[in-house]
Amino acid sequence: MNSDFYCAEVISGKTLVTKIVETESVLAFQHTRPAYPVHIVVIPKQHVESLVMLDLTDTSLLYEMLQMIQNIATIVLAAHGACRVITNLGTYQESKHLHWHIVSGERITEPANLH
Ligand SMILES: [Zn+2]
Repeated sequence: MNSDFYCAEVISGKTLVTKIVETESVLAFQHTRPAYPVHIVVIPKQHVESLVMLDLTDTSLLYEMLQMIQNIATIVLAAHGACRVITNLGTYQESKHLHWHIVSGERITEPANLH
């Protein structure tokens, strides 16, 4: 598995994903190997390694990304009554491209590869 699944596979179009919302700089899609009944991934379309590497001066990206996370979380919360928004770092982060997991429900598989 490539260490940057999102640039190598998703943004490149090599792996087809079920898109939920896409804007100029942010993409939300169904996780390719969901670990929860609801498992959505939000990524910036430009390469950002992780949350700690995110350029806080890029306010348009920040706004677009957070707005998308909020919109999806609002829908998931309304539909399921509970929601988690997760971003992993360091050894918890399988794929070195910033991504947010929006999940709900009981874990259905081991997190062997959350990307
Ligand atoms: Zn990347």
